[in-house]
Amino acid sequence: MKIYKAAIIGLGPSGLAVNKILYGDSTNEVIAFENEDINKRDNYFGFWLTDWMKPFENIIEKKWYQWTIGNKNINIIHTISDKPYCVISFKKWKNFCLETKNKLEIKNKKVAKYFPVQNYFKVITDDNTEYYAEKIYDSRSTKEKKGELLQHFYGINITVPDNTFNKNELTLMHFTEEENILHFIYVLPFSHNKALVESTVFSKYAFHSSWYKEKINDYLKKKNIAEFKEQSSEEGIIPMFFAEEKRSANSNIFNIGIRGGACKPSTGYAFSFLIKQIQLLKNSKKNYVNIHKFLERKMDRIFINFLKNNREDGGSFIKLASNLNGNEFQSFMMGESNLLTKLKIIISMPKLVFIRELLK
Ligand SMILES: Cc1cc2nc3c(=O)[nH]c(=O)nc-3n(C[C@H](O)[C@H](O)[C@H](O)COP(=O)(O)OP(=O)(O)OC[C@H]3O[C@@H](n4cnc5c(N)ncnc54)[C@H](O)[C@@H]3O)c2cc1C
Repeated sequence: MKIYKAAIIGLGPSGLAVNKILYGDSTNEVIAFENEDINKRDNYFGFWLTDWMKPFENIIEKKWYQWTIGNKNINIIHTISDKPYCVISFKKWKNFCLETKNKLEIKNKKVAKYFPVQNYFKVITDDNTEYYAEKIYDSRSTKEKKGELLQHFYGINITVPDNTFNKNELTLMHFTEEENILHFIYVLPFSHNKALVESTVFSKYAFHSSWYKEKINDYLKKKNIAEFKEQSSEEGIIPMFFAEEKRSANSNIFNIGIRGGACKPSTGYAFSFLIKQIQLLKNSKKNYVNIHKFLERKMDRIFINFLKNNREDGGSFIKLASNLNGNEFQSFMMGESNLLTKLKIIISMPKLVFIRELLK
């Protein structure tokens, strides 16, 4: 009976990070289970270049030192000098994380269950095969939960005539007026004639892809971009609630990625946080690390409750952006804001609503 050093459940970004960061320099034998074909997956992960992301600078696709947040009436421009907004593609992350010294065996199978037996685990896949491992890294997560908000989106990678986009300026959030939902367009201009244009909604239910496509077309039309070729698309649902599984009672079970609480639910940013999580686990004797600080979590909860219980058209985000400079904004998004920035954020929120949510 072969007992692997570790079993990774799910080869999304966090499962891959476990292979690279925790086992990449060892000669351990690791097994990973993934029920989808990850070679077909490709999308971009955005983040600001914090210190913990610097080791991955070589695989960054593009950096932007300027971004905008606005609507049809107002456009706030933020600039930054040392922590630009960056993207890494899933494909590059996958190749980077699979290039290691350790032996990784990948099974294209769904894990049905696992449980401890003596000092190891028995993992059973849905074809009823049994595997054994000393540790479990589990990244399966619940993406939707009744009554909770979701961030759902659909984006297209397009090519357009020359000099259409300003390749140095990213559109982080361009809010459009919609009835009862919060919607914005996100544009990553990779060059003057190539961009990812994404339609994103915060609401309790996801929509059919045709809904987002219509919003993207409306936006492009308003920008006088009539001619474009669609190269590929990406879509997703990110939970805007804290994961319940976070901590396991068994010290050899590690809940990772979104399942392990990596997502900052008020923004949907998870990629750089799940990497931080695995880096912290490497230096910890525990099976759980707090990625988001207490005050950040508290503020996130208040903000999510505010979004859940109030009609929001993006005005609060624009006000927040107008009260902060680029450095302060990125520090807030990456969970590194100081007390003064936190105060500026609180001041940007509608006072009565904020106090009501705080007292809940
Ligand atoms: C299209 C898209 C774009 C995003 N963009 C950004 C971004 O710009 N910035 C950012 O910070 N975050 C972004 N996110 C959010 C977040 O970074 C991603 O959701 C990320 O994929 C989370 O990684 P994960 O490893 O926690 O989970 P997942 O990526 O969901 O990986 C879990 C894996 O487990 C597999 N699995 C599930 N059940 C089983 C089972 N029973 N057996 C075997 N395998 C199983 C799944 O197939 C999946 O591959 C984006 C998400 C999506 C979907």
